Amino acid sequence: MGAATVAIPEVVLESSNGQRRIPVIGLGTAPEASSKVSTKDAVVEAIKQGYRHFDAASAYGVEQSVGEAIQEALQLGLISSRDQLFITTKIWVTDNHPHLILPALQKSLKTLQLDYLDLYLIHWPISAKPGKVTYPIEQSELVPFDMEGVWKSMEECQRLGLTKAIGVSNFSIKKLQKLLSFATIPPAVNQVEVNLAFQQHKLREFCKSKGITVTAFSPLRKGASRGTNMVMDNDVLKELADAHGKTVAQICLRWIYEQGLTVVAKSYDKERMKQNLEIFDWCLTDEDYKKISEIHQDRLIKGPTKPLLHDLWDEEDDHQ
Ligand code: NAP
Repeated sequence: MGAATVAIPEVVLESSNGQRRIPVIGLGTAPEASSKVSTKDAVVEAIKQGYRHFDAASAYGVEQSVGEAIQEALQLGLISSRDQLFITTKIWVTDNHPHLILPALQKSLKTLQLDYLDLYLIHWPISAKPGKVTYPIEQSELVPFDMEGVWKSMEECQRLGLTKAIGVSNFSIKKLQKLLSFATIPPAVNQVEVNLAFQQHKLREFCKSKGITVTAFSPLRKGASRGTNMVMDNDVLKELADAHGKTVAQICLRWIYEQGLTVVAKSYDKERMKQNLEIFDWCLTDEDYKKISEIHQDRLIKGPTKPLLHDLWDEEDDHQ
Protein backbone atom coordinates (compact mmCIF):
# COMPACT_ATOMS: atom_id res chain seq x y z
CA MET A 1 0.00 0.00 0.00
CA GLY A 2 2.72 2.51 -0.90
CA ALA A 3 5.71 3.94 0.95
CA ALA A 4 4.76 4.92 4.49
CA THR A 5 6.63 6.58 7.33
CA VAL A 6 5.64 3.72 9.62
CA ALA A 7 5.03 0.35 7.96
CA ILE A 8 1.71 -0.79 9.38
CA PRO A 9 1.07 -4.56 9.19
CA GLU A 10 -1.99 -5.71 7.24
CA VAL A 11 -4.35 -8.67 7.40
CA VAL A 12 -6.34 -10.21 4.57
CA LEU A 13 -10.11 -9.88 4.72
CA GLU A 14 -11.30 -13.40 3.97
CA SER A 15 -14.64 -12.44 2.50
CA SER A 16 -13.63 -9.61 0.19
CA ASN A 17 -13.46 -9.01 -3.50
CA GLY A 18 -9.87 -9.78 -4.51
CA GLN A 19 -8.62 -10.70 -1.02
CA ARG A 20 -8.43 -7.08 0.17
CA ARG A 21 -5.86 -6.34 2.86
CA ILE A 22 -6.73 -4.12 5.79
CA PRO A 23 -4.02 -2.20 7.71
CA VAL A 24 -4.26 -3.34 11.33
CA ILE A 25 -4.54 0.18 12.68
CA GLY A 26 -6.83 2.81 11.24
CA LEU A 27 -7.67 6.36 12.21
CA GLY A 28 -11.12 6.85 13.74
CA THR A 29 -13.04 9.96 12.72
CA ALA A 30 -16.02 10.05 15.12
CA PRO A 31 -16.49 13.73 15.94
CA GLU A 32 -15.62 15.23 19.30
CA ALA A 33 -16.85 18.73 20.08
CA SER A 34 -13.62 19.52 21.94
CA SER A 35 -11.38 18.77 18.94
CA LYS A 36 -9.37 21.80 17.80
CA VAL A 37 -8.03 20.09 14.67
CA SER A 38 -10.29 19.65 11.64
CA THR A 39 -10.94 16.18 10.24
CA LYS A 40 -9.39 17.22 6.93
CA ASP A 41 -6.13 18.36 8.55
CA ALA A 42 -6.03 15.30 10.81
CA VAL A 43 -6.45 12.90 7.89
CA VAL A 44 -3.76 14.64 5.81
CA GLU A 45 -1.36 14.55 8.79
CA ALA A 46 -2.21 10.88 9.39
CA ILE A 47 -1.40 10.02 5.77
CA LYS A 48 1.95 11.83 6.17
CA GLN A 49 2.67 9.67 9.22
CA GLY A 50 1.84 6.41 7.46
CA TYR A 51 -1.82 5.80 8.30
CA ARG A 52 -3.59 4.24 5.33
CA HIS A 53 -6.84 3.05 6.91
CA PHE A 54 -9.62 5.53 7.78
CA ASP A 55 -12.87 4.76 9.56
CA ALA A 56 -15.78 7.06 8.69
CA ALA A 57 -19.57 6.81 8.90
CA SER A 58 -22.36 8.75 7.24
CA ALA A 59 -23.64 9.65 10.73
CA TYR A 60 -20.30 11.24 11.70
CA GLY A 61 -20.72 14.00 9.10
CA VAL A 62 -17.04 13.65 8.14
CA GLU A 63 -17.22 12.05 4.71
CA GLN A 64 -16.74 15.33 2.88
CA SER A 65 -13.67 16.22 4.97
CA VAL A 66 -12.18 12.75 4.53
CA GLY A 67 -12.73 13.04 0.77
CA GLU A 68 -11.08 16.48 0.65
CA ALA A 69 -8.12 15.15 2.64
CA ILE A 70 -7.66 12.28 0.18
CA GLN A 71 -7.67 14.74 -2.73
CA GLU A 72 -5.10 16.91 -0.95
CA ALA A 73 -2.90 13.91 -0.16
CA LEU A 74 -2.97 12.99 -3.86
CA GLN A 75 -2.14 16.55 -4.91
CA LEU A 76 0.73 16.75 -2.40
CA GLY A 77 2.06 13.40 -3.66
CA LEU A 78 1.74 11.80 -0.20
CA ILE A 79 0.11 8.88 -2.01
CA SER A 80 0.20 8.18 -5.73
CA SER A 81 -3.22 6.57 -5.96
CA ARG A 82 -6.41 6.21 -3.95
CA ASP A 83 -5.81 2.44 -4.13
CA GLN A 84 -3.12 2.88 -1.45
CA LEU A 85 -5.81 3.72 1.09
CA PHE A 86 -8.36 1.59 2.92
CA ILE A 87 -11.57 3.58 3.36
CA THR A 88 -14.48 2.39 5.49
CA THR A 89 -17.83 4.07 5.93
CA LYS A 90 -21.10 2.97 7.54
CA ILE A 91 -24.82 3.10 6.84
CA TRP A 92 -26.85 4.93 9.43
CA VAL A 93 -29.97 3.28 10.87
CA THR A 94 -32.33 5.56 8.91
CA ASP A 95 -30.98 3.98 5.69
CA ASN A 96 -31.04 0.45 7.09
CA HIS A 97 -33.76 -0.66 4.66
CA PRO A 98 -33.24 -2.92 1.63
CA HIS A 99 -34.19 -0.25 -0.96
CA LEU A 100 -32.07 2.49 0.69
CA ILE A 101 -28.70 0.71 0.97
CA LEU A 102 -27.50 1.29 -2.62
CA PRO A 103 -28.60 4.97 -2.72
CA ALA A 104 -26.93 5.52 0.69
CA LEU A 105 -23.69 4.01 -0.56
CA GLN A 106 -23.82 6.08 -3.76
CA LYS A 107 -24.35 9.22 -1.68
CA SER A 108 -21.41 8.36 0.60
CA LEU A 109 -19.18 7.70 -2.42
CA LYS A 110 -20.14 11.06 -3.94
CA THR A 111 -19.43 12.89 -0.68
CA LEU A 112 -16.11 11.07 -0.29
CA GLN A 113 -15.26 11.77 -3.99
CA LEU A 114 -14.50 8.05 -4.45
CA ASP A 115 -15.45 5.42 -7.05
CA TYR A 116 -15.39 2.60 -4.54
CA LEU A 117 -15.10 1.88 -0.82
CA ASP A 118 -12.86 -0.72 0.73
CA LEU A 119 -15.41 -1.63 3.38
CA TYR A 120 -19.08 -0.78 3.86
CA LEU A 121 -20.56 -1.56 7.28
CA ILE A 122 -24.03 -1.76 8.79
CA HIS A 123 -23.46 0.63 11.70
CA TRP A 124 -26.05 -0.90 14.08
CA PRO A 125 -28.36 -3.96 13.83
CA ILE A 126 -31.50 -1.81 14.06
CA SER A 127 -33.58 0.30 11.66
CA ALA A 128 -35.21 3.66 12.15
CA LYS A 129 -37.79 5.44 10.01
CA PRO A 130 -36.07 6.98 6.97
CA GLY A 131 -35.31 10.66 7.26
CA LYS A 132 -33.69 12.89 9.80
CA VAL A 133 -30.58 11.66 11.65
CA THR A 134 -30.89 12.23 15.39
CA TYR A 135 -28.68 10.96 18.19
CA PRO A 136 -29.54 9.27 20.46
CA ILE A 137 -32.35 7.68 18.47
CA GLU A 138 -35.77 7.82 20.09
CA GLN A 139 -37.13 4.29 20.51
CA SER A 140 -40.39 5.49 18.93
CA GLU A 141 -38.44 6.02 15.66
CA LEU A 142 -37.46 2.34 15.40
CA VAL A 143 -39.02 -0.07 12.91
CA PRO A 144 -38.30 -3.81 12.44
CA PHE A 145 -34.82 -4.49 11.02
CA ASP A 146 -35.03 -6.62 7.84
CA MET A 147 -31.59 -8.16 8.24
CA GLU A 148 -31.95 -10.54 5.30
CA GLY A 149 -33.22 -7.88 2.89
CA VAL A 150 -30.57 -5.39 3.98
CA TRP A 151 -27.78 -7.94 3.63
CA LYS A 152 -28.93 -8.88 0.09
CA SER A 153 -28.60 -5.20 -0.84
CA MET A 154 -25.15 -5.06 0.79
CA GLU A 155 -24.10 -8.10 -1.29
CA GLU A 156 -25.36 -6.33 -4.40
CA CYS A 157 -23.14 -3.33 -3.55
CA GLN A 158 -20.08 -5.60 -3.44
CA ARG A 159 -21.10 -7.39 -6.65
CA LEU A 160 -21.46 -4.01 -8.40
CA GLY A 161 -17.86 -3.21 -7.40
CA LEU A 162 -18.91 -0.20 -5.32
CA THR A 163 -17.21 -1.70 -2.27
CA LYS A 164 -14.46 -4.32 -2.02
CA ALA A 165 -15.89 -5.77 1.19
CA ILE A 166 -19.02 -5.62 3.31
CA GLY A 167 -19.44 -6.09 7.02
CA VAL A 168 -21.31 -5.22 10.17
CA SER A 169 -20.81 -3.36 13.41
CA ASN A 170 -22.19 -3.95 16.89
CA PHE A 171 -23.42 -7.45 16.01
CA SER A 172 -23.70 -10.07 18.79
CA ILE A 173 -22.91 -13.77 18.20
CA LYS A 174 -26.64 -14.48 17.91
CA LYS A 175 -27.10 -11.82 15.22
CA LEU A 176 -24.01 -13.02 13.32
CA GLN A 177 -25.38 -16.58 13.38
CA LYS A 178 -28.63 -15.36 11.87
CA LEU A 179 -26.75 -13.37 9.21
CA LEU A 180 -24.53 -16.33 8.32
CA SER A 181 -27.61 -18.55 7.89
CA PHE A 182 -28.60 -16.69 4.69
CA ALA A 183 -25.51 -14.73 3.57
CA THR A 184 -24.03 -15.67 0.20
CA ILE A 185 -21.17 -13.26 0.93
CA PRO A 186 -20.32 -13.59 4.64
CA PRO A 187 -19.44 -10.39 6.50
CA ALA A 188 -15.71 -9.60 6.22
CA VAL A 189 -15.68 -7.56 9.44
CA ASN A 190 -17.56 -7.05 12.69
CA GLN A 191 -16.54 -3.69 14.17
CA VAL A 192 -17.26 -3.72 17.90
CA GLU A 193 -16.10 -2.18 21.15
CA VAL A 194 -12.95 -3.90 22.38
CA ASN A 195 -10.68 -2.43 25.03
CA LEU A 196 -8.91 -3.68 28.12
CA ALA A 197 -12.06 -3.10 30.20
CA PHE A 198 -14.27 -4.87 27.65
CA GLN A 199 -12.22 -7.66 26.13
CA GLN A 200 -14.97 -9.58 24.29
CA HIS A 201 -13.32 -13.03 24.39
CA LYS A 202 -16.42 -15.03 23.34
CA LEU A 203 -17.39 -12.80 20.44
CA ARG A 204 -13.80 -12.69 19.18
CA GLU A 205 -13.51 -16.49 19.33
CA PHE A 206 -16.74 -16.86 17.38
CA CYS A 207 -15.64 -14.36 14.70
CA LYS A 208 -12.29 -16.09 14.35
CA SER A 209 -13.98 -19.46 13.82
CA LYS A 210 -16.07 -17.95 11.01
CA GLY A 211 -13.26 -16.01 9.29
CA ILE A 212 -14.74 -12.64 10.32
CA THR A 213 -12.10 -9.99 11.09
CA VAL A 214 -12.84 -8.06 14.28
CA THR A 215 -12.09 -4.34 14.29
CA ALA A 216 -11.88 -2.86 17.79
CA PHE A 217 -13.48 0.53 18.32
CA SER A 218 -13.04 2.79 21.36
CA PRO A 219 -9.75 0.99 22.07
CA LEU A 220 -8.83 3.60 24.69
CA ARG A 221 -12.38 3.66 25.99
CA LYS A 222 -12.45 7.39 25.48
CA GLY A 223 -14.33 8.93 22.58
CA ALA A 224 -17.04 11.18 23.93
CA SER A 225 -17.08 9.48 27.36
CA ARG A 226 -17.16 11.44 30.59
CA GLY A 227 -15.79 10.75 34.07
CA THR A 228 -13.16 8.24 35.15
CA ASN A 229 -11.79 6.20 32.32
CA MET A 230 -11.56 2.52 33.32
CA VAL A 231 -8.61 2.06 30.97
CA MET A 232 -6.64 5.30 30.78
CA ASP A 233 -6.95 5.95 34.55
CA ASN A 234 -6.26 2.34 35.55
CA ASP A 235 -3.36 2.16 38.06
CA VAL A 236 -2.33 -1.35 37.03
CA LEU A 237 -2.07 -0.25 33.41
CA LYS A 238 -0.11 2.83 34.45
CA GLU A 239 2.37 0.51 36.20
CA LEU A 240 2.65 -1.70 33.11
CA ALA A 241 3.19 1.37 30.95
CA ASP A 242 5.96 2.64 33.23
CA ALA A 243 7.64 -0.76 33.29
CA HIS A 244 7.75 -0.84 29.47
CA GLY A 245 8.61 2.84 29.09
CA LYS A 246 5.37 3.23 27.07
CA THR A 247 2.07 5.02 27.56
CA VAL A 248 -1.19 3.43 28.71
CA ALA A 249 -2.58 4.03 25.21
CA GLN A 250 0.30 2.07 23.70
CA ILE A 251 -0.24 -0.83 26.15
CA CYS A 252 -3.90 -0.93 25.08
CA LEU A 253 -3.17 -0.83 21.36
CA ARG A 254 -0.33 -3.36 21.65
CA TRP A 255 -2.63 -5.80 23.49
CA ILE A 256 -5.28 -5.45 20.76
CA TYR A 257 -2.62 -6.03 18.08
CA GLU A 258 -1.33 -9.12 19.91
CA GLN A 259 -4.89 -10.50 19.93
CA GLY A 260 -4.75 -10.52 16.12
CA LEU A 261 -7.39 -7.81 15.85
CA THR A 262 -7.56 -4.71 13.72
CA VAL A 263 -8.31 -1.44 15.49
CA VAL A 264 -9.56 2.08 14.84
CA ALA A 265 -8.17 4.62 17.28
CA LYS A 266 -9.04 8.28 17.08
CA SER A 267 -6.46 10.98 17.65
CA TYR A 268 -6.37 14.29 15.81
CA ASP A 269 -3.27 15.33 17.78
CA LYS A 270 -0.04 14.97 15.79
CA GLU A 271 2.02 13.54 18.68
CA ARG A 272 -0.63 11.11 19.98
CA MET A 273 -1.36 9.98 16.42
CA LYS A 274 2.34 9.14 16.08
CA GLN A 275 2.50 7.50 19.50
CA ASN A 276 -0.40 5.22 18.56
CA LEU A 277 1.63 3.75 15.70
CA GLU A 278 4.65 2.96 17.88
CA ILE A 279 3.38 -0.43 18.98
CA PHE A 280 4.97 -2.86 16.54
CA ASP A 281 8.50 -3.47 17.86
CA TRP A 282 8.00 -4.60 21.45
CA CYS A 283 5.68 -7.02 23.28
CA LEU A 284 3.74 -7.69 26.46
CA THR A 285 4.85 -10.40 28.89
CA ASP A 286 2.96 -13.32 30.46
CA GLU A 287 2.93 -11.38 33.72
CA ASP A 288 1.32 -8.41 31.91
CA TYR A 289 -1.34 -10.75 30.52
CA LYS A 290 -2.11 -12.05 34.00
CA LYS A 291 -2.68 -8.51 35.29
CA ILE A 292 -4.70 -7.55 32.22
CA SER A 293 -6.99 -10.57 32.73
CA GLU A 294 -7.95 -9.23 36.17
CA ILE A 295 -9.30 -5.88 34.95
CA HIS A 296 -12.99 -5.38 35.72
CA GLN A 297 -15.11 -5.77 32.56
CA ASP A 298 -18.01 -3.56 31.50
CA ARG A 299 -19.33 -2.30 28.14
CA LEU A 300 -18.81 1.44 27.58
CA ILE A 301 -21.08 2.00 24.55
CA LYS A 302 -24.38 0.44 25.52
CA GLY A 303 -26.39 1.46 22.46
CA PRO A 304 -27.51 4.35 20.28
CA THR A 305 -31.11 4.62 21.48
CA LYS A 306 -32.95 6.47 24.21
CA PRO A 307 -33.97 4.58 26.29
CA LEU A 308 -31.53 1.71 25.68
CA LEU A 309 -32.82 -1.49 24.06
CA HIS A 310 -32.87 -4.44 26.45
CA ASP A 311 -32.16 -7.04 23.74
CA LEU A 312 -29.54 -5.23 21.61
CA TRP A 313 -26.66 -7.42 22.84
CA ASP A 314 -28.71 -10.61 23.25
CA GLU A 315 -27.56 -10.88 26.87
CA GLU A 316 -24.07 -11.89 25.80
CA ASP A 317 -22.26 -9.32 27.98
CA ASP A 318 -22.25 -11.64 30.99
CA HIS A 319 -20.40 -14.36 29.10
CA GLN A 320 -17.76 -12.33 27.34
P1 NAP B 1 -10.80 6.05 21.35
O1 NAP B 1 -10.06 5.89 20.07
O2 NAP B 1 -10.73 4.95 22.35
O3 NAP B 1 -10.37 7.38 22.07
C1 NAP B 1 -10.30 8.61 21.40
C2 NAP B 1 -9.92 9.66 22.41
O4 NAP B 1 -8.67 9.35 23.00
C3 NAP B 1 -9.79 11.04 21.84
O5 NAP B 1 -10.33 11.94 22.78
C4 NAP B 1 -8.29 11.27 21.69
O6 NAP B 1 -7.98 12.62 21.87
C5 NAP B 1 -7.73 10.42 22.82
N1 NAP B 1 -6.44 9.79 22.50
C6 NAP B 1 -6.08 9.19 21.34
N2 NAP B 1 -4.82 8.70 21.43
C7 NAP B 1 -4.40 9.00 22.68
C8 NAP B 1 -3.19 8.75 23.36
N3 NAP B 1 -2.17 8.11 22.79
N4 NAP B 1 -3.08 9.21 24.64
C9 NAP B 1 -4.09 9.88 25.25
N5 NAP B 1 -5.28 10.12 24.64
C10 NAP B 1 -5.42 9.69 23.37
O7 NAP B 1 -12.33 6.31 21.12
P2 NAP B 1 -13.40 6.46 19.95
O8 NAP B 1 -13.18 7.71 19.16
O9 NAP B 1 -14.68 6.23 20.62
O10 NAP B 1 -13.13 5.20 19.00
C11 NAP B 1 -12.26 5.24 17.89
C12 NAP B 1 -13.02 5.19 16.60
O11 NAP B 1 -13.83 4.02 16.54
C13 NAP B 1 -14.02 6.32 16.36
O12 NAP B 1 -13.39 7.55 16.03
C14 NAP B 1 -14.87 5.73 15.26
O13 NAP B 1 -14.21 5.83 14.02
C15 NAP B 1 -14.97 4.27 15.73
N6 NAP B 1 -16.19 4.00 16.53
C16 NAP B 1 -17.15 3.19 15.98
C17 NAP B 1 -18.32 2.92 16.68
C18 NAP B 1 -19.36 2.02 16.06
O14 NAP B 1 -20.49 1.98 16.54
N7 NAP B 1 -19.02 1.30 15.02
C19 NAP B 1 -18.51 3.43 17.97
C20 NAP B 1 -17.50 4.23 18.52
C21 NAP B 1 -16.35 4.48 17.80
P3 NAP B 1 -7.04 13.45 20.81
O15 NAP B 1 -7.74 13.42 19.49
O16 NAP B 1 -6.98 14.80 21.41
O17 NAP B 1 -5.72 12.73 20.80
